[in-house]
Amino acid sequence: MANYDYDVIIAGGGMAGLITAASIGSFSRQKARILVVDRNPPSDPGKKTINGWTCGDAVSKRSVDYIAKNIGISYGKPELEHPVDGVLVYSPDHETKVLFEGEGFILNRKILPHRQVEDAKKLGVEFTYNVVCDRLYSEDGFVRGVTGRAMPESVPFKKTAKMVIDAAGSATKLRPNLPISSKIDPDIDRDDLESTGRYIFDFEVEREDPTWFDSRYALIHLDQYIAPGGYSWTFPKGKNKVNIGLGVQKKALDERNQKNGRKDGLQDLIDQYVAMNKAIGKPVQSPSNDDLGNTKGSWQVSVRRHNDCLVANGYAIVGDSAWMARPIDAGGIGPSIYASVMLGKVVAQAIEANDTSEEGLWQYNLEYMKHHGYQMASFEVLRRYLQTLTNDQISYGMKYFLSEEDISSIVNREHPRFSRLRLLNPAMMVRVAKEPKLASGLKHTADTSEDLISHNMNYPEKPSGFAAWKTQLLLKLQLAFKF
Ligand SMILES: Cc1cc2nc3c(=O)[nH]c(=O)nc-3n(C[C@H](O)[C@H](O)[C@H](O)COP(=O)(O)OP(=O)(O)OC[C@H]3O[C@@H](n4cnc5c(N)ncnc54)[C@H](O)[C@@H]3O)c2cc1C
Repeated sequence: MANYDYDVIIAGGGMAGLITAASIGSFSRQKARILVVDRNPPSDPGKKTINGWTCGDAVSKRSVDYIAKNIGISYGKPELEHPVDGVLVYSPDHETKVLFEGEGFILNRKILPHRQVEDAKKLGVEFTYNVVCDRLYSEDGFVRGVTGRAMPESVPFKKTAKMVIDAAGSATKLRPNLPISSKIDPDIDRDDLESTGRYIFDFEVEREDPTWFDSRYALIHLDQYIAPGGYSWTFPKGKNKVNIGLGVQKKALDERNQKNGRKDGLQDLIDQYVAMNKAIGKPVQSPSNDDLGNTKGSWQVSVRRHNDCLVANGYAIVGDSAWMARPIDAGGIGPSIYASVMLGKVVAQAIEANDTSEEGLWQYNLEYMKHHGYQMASFEVLRRYLQTLTNDQISYGMKYFLSEEDISSIVNREHPRFSRLRLLNPAMMVRVAKEPKLASGLKHTADTSEDLISHNMNYPEKPSGFAAWKTQLLLKLQLAFKF
């Protein structure tokens, strides 16, 4: 290969970019020359927007453990700000709760990137700050660098490498303007994005009510009126500190406003949710230095399956730029962690083998799909179906149609089978008769999920098999989306 400034450039030093950088450093035994380019100043690594590190901050313990197991990096206090025993999802009528996820942490997203930058530097990673990456630079059908602007003077910036990893988040400018032909989808449908926002508050407990605040559990509230097409959350950061917010689908919000003669926007709904939360009294945006500049913000997150292809010649995508957040709950930290570690291993091997072609990087597609991503298409189907339901239907379904087995599937990140709906006992037959469309819709999502999962487990071993696999996938999805 020709001489390049680096082996690999990572555009974007957020959750995905920083873990990918450390992972390449670790798997290459610090031999790879790695540069992370981020638009933030060094004092604010990982900051998503001018409004801060906007996130619900929840991550499962098993995701955090995965980093420790694979690249030997363990986090602790203060970046793991508060431990939780799980995530509880409440039905709109608050009568049913479901444990959606096991043990985990509420992170301090402002502090964590400082720790991650130090870890990456110890593994030989270099950093360039204050640079906005605008475009990919290509040569002979390969991506070979990035161009952009060094701020604040907007001085032209260009660095070359054997490959570039796009970890610039959900608003990346790189993937939609890929200068070479590839199998990567450039654009996302507006309906597959959620508008989300949250506060970080210190507060006084107004009323002890664990359905509204519980320092041991991250709470999710389903309510199509207050969070149409999404959900709201109250995640504890301590006994008197909370990350509280919600996400909506724009189309669902417009329909809800029209139906109810309202003109609410995202921020109105967040403020209404805070006001209706019976446990949160006298909220103030947390004055702590650890939260300064990070207590109120909104941003977007994708809720579709990850991009069907994650690599091209000299290029790979990871994290939100690859739409990796889980379609069902928009949790993107866990998928970013798994994908970043897997990508790091594949890139270290590709650099060692001097082959950063699409084929040389293809193993990343396979690893991610087989070990984590295989569920995502079926969760996309379930998400789309749930968005069609009313509050009454969600409450009814959670009360009568969800079984223990379904709940343990959900905890294990598997698609629920809704096997209760297949019981032929009189009580269930009466319930199904009361909500026949709901019952058949849930069964449909479970049936199509099996087919989609087995299709994903047969992800092509080589790029040559991709076109046929993708055609089949789109046909299967077309059928699955017919509720
Ligand atoms: C309100 C909200 C709540 C959420 N809650 C949760 C949750 O509780 N749990 C969970 O698992 N997930 C949650 N998510 C999703 C999660 O935050 C993301 O999936 C995760 O941060 C993805 O990391 P990333 O590194 O891909 O992107 P980001 O965190 O967005 O990082 C991108 C980095 O790239 C930099 N960058 C961007 N553009 C450029 C450019 N052109 N040039 C140079 N640098 C650039 C940014 O400044 C940033 O440093 C939430 C998201 C939102 C918006």
